[in-house]
Amino acid sequence: MCGIVAYVGQKDAYPILINGLKRLEYRGYDSAGVALFETDIIVSKKKGKVQELVNFMDTRPRNGKIGIGHTRWATHGVPDDINAHPHSSGNGRLTLVHNGIIENYALLKAALEKEGHKFKSETDTEVLVHLIEEIQKRDNLPLEEAVRIALTRVIGAYAIVVLDENEPGKLVGARKASPLVIGIGENEFFLASDATPIIEHTKRVVYLNDEEIAVVRQSGEMEIKSINNEVLTPFIHELDMEIEMLEKGGYDYFMLKEIYEQPNTIADCMRGRLNAEEGWIKLGGVDEFANRIANAQRFIIAACGTSWHAGLIGEYLFEELARMPVEVEYASELRYRNPIITEKDVVIALSQSGETADTLAALEMAKEKGALIYGIVNVVGSSIARMTDAGSYIHAGPEIGVASTKAFTAQVTLLTMMALRIGYQRGTISESYFRLLLNELASIPAKVERVMASNQLIEYIAGEIKDRPNALYLGRGYNFPIALEGALKLKEISYIHAEGYPAAEMKHGPIALIDENMPVIVIATNKSAYDKIVSNIQEVKARKGFVIAVVTEGDTVISELADHTIEIPDTEEPLTPLLSVIPLQLLSYHIAVMRKCNVDQPRNLAKSVTVE
Ligand code: GLU
Repeated sequence: MCGIVAYVGQKDAYPILINGLKRLEYRGYDSAGVALFETDIIVSKKKGKVQELVNFMDTRPRNGKIGIGHTRWATHGVPDDINAHPHSSGNGRLTLVHNGIIENYALLKAALEKEGHKFKSETDTEVLVHLIEEIQKRDNLPLEEAVRIALTRVIGAYAIVVLDENEPGKLVGARKASPLVIGIGENEFFLASDATPIIEHTKRVVYLNDEEIAVVRQSGEMEIKSINNEVLTPFIHELDMEIEMLEKGGYDYFMLKEIYEQPNTIADCMRGRLNAEEGWIKLGGVDEFANRIANAQRFIIAACGTSWHAGLIGEYLFEELARMPVEVEYASELRYRNPIITEKDVVIALSQSGETADTLAALEMAKEKGALIYGIVNVVGSSIARMTDAGSYIHAGPEIGVASTKAFTAQVTLLTMMALRIGYQRGTISESYFRLLLNELASIPAKVERVMASNQLIEYIAGEIKDRPNALYLGRGYNFPIALEGALKLKEISYIHAEGYPAAEMKHGPIALIDENMPVIVIATNKSAYDKIVSNIQEVKARKGFVIAVVTEGDTVISELADHTIEIPDTEEPLTPLLSVIPLQLLSYHIAVMRKCNVDQPRNLAKSVTVE
């Protein structure tokens, strides 16, 4: 959601900014802009894709070794050229890009209007740049000091980068609850919302913390201060990411590449952590707090979207394998309730980006209440990774497609290992079943590979249902969250209305929707409740529904009933979600391609939901 990229150094800023904005496209946005500073600051911005900005720039000055760029995901004011960032102060001296929401913007705006400030856009952001100008002008302060004072008056979330026409050769950045990373080159600096625009220039980065302000200069100096004016020593990280990870590598879309990467990403998630032959699982984060976790009163899993579905599977796993009471919460709901959380609880956050604003806020609340906070994230160095007591990276590599695929299966793999590890310690799982599941888990990457062999069949089925306006997904037990996930994938990238339901709940409502136009996708593996799900399929067929069933290899019963069956290899029941989700990912992918949707950047969606 929203992307910031900024450069100061010895090279032309424009190509760096445009490449950076292209790298950030995956986060989701509706308009783009740049400000370049040579002798004056020149702002150019456009509604629509970065490419439209590039076309517009054909007729605009593109010089300058310092500049800021932005992709906007509108929160305040419609997506148009005027509301697009960068925004400038009234006197034109300052130019700023912002990711986040200034919650008290209306109050600030009213006060500034009294002082004579006139606003051009409807954004909350423009208020901030006028506020900085007002403070700077009143006391004749250097830019960083005016920014610092302004930020003490702001309520909300921000990552900002500011340029000052009177103070050339310098950028000021700051963050609170929205990410900002500083890349350090040779007499040059890159500021960005994540490391993807930086990686091709340098691997040395500093992750700015909340309420910190950075000043970077063309001369190669960097200073970091807190909003309370303390000077801080930055900690420099080495990025462990290669540029090829950010390319499509021969696939038409990132989403397809990421679906096909899953045999590797699941294996990467287990690497060094699971040894089936020797019969152990090691998870640094769990090992460190082993007793506290194993003796917790309860696990609370907080997440949003696809991660929430992985969390639901986590509930089934922890309950069955570790006999641990679990609640799964939408982070956005949890944070605004007054939940009963104590120091005996463990709160587990799932977030691909590690920046999800609601999940971060829920964790902060749980931390205050004394719970142990555990993060399961993909992006190394992200805010959640840094604020938790313990955690595990899922090691799925950069996920660029907005619709999550490989991060989901890696999250489920990690949760499975966690449940096994904790169950073993608690003595709630027999040695033989523990060993069996370890062996099975180790064989999952090869089985995922086998599911890919159904790709052509799935593409054919996609053709049959691509024009239907609705779809229903049904599953039971471990596959109920997969029904939810399948429906979400279809909605996200194909814009077809879909719902996921526990199969038995169908009778309590959705059955009324079933007729010959309704595709019903049923996950019907040969595990517990198999007979019941066969009955559910009968009920759908009796009402002429169009049934697509995901079944275990060799199933002969359902193939007689369903219009289409997609086979997945047999495995132990707790591991079925890792296989059953794959055909549903491919199905929504093919439908989206056939419907000519933008698979990797679906409308209105953002990858990293950094505003609540
Ligand atoms: N709230 C700001 C706006 O609507 C920033 C949105 C963003 O993070 O892209 O312009």
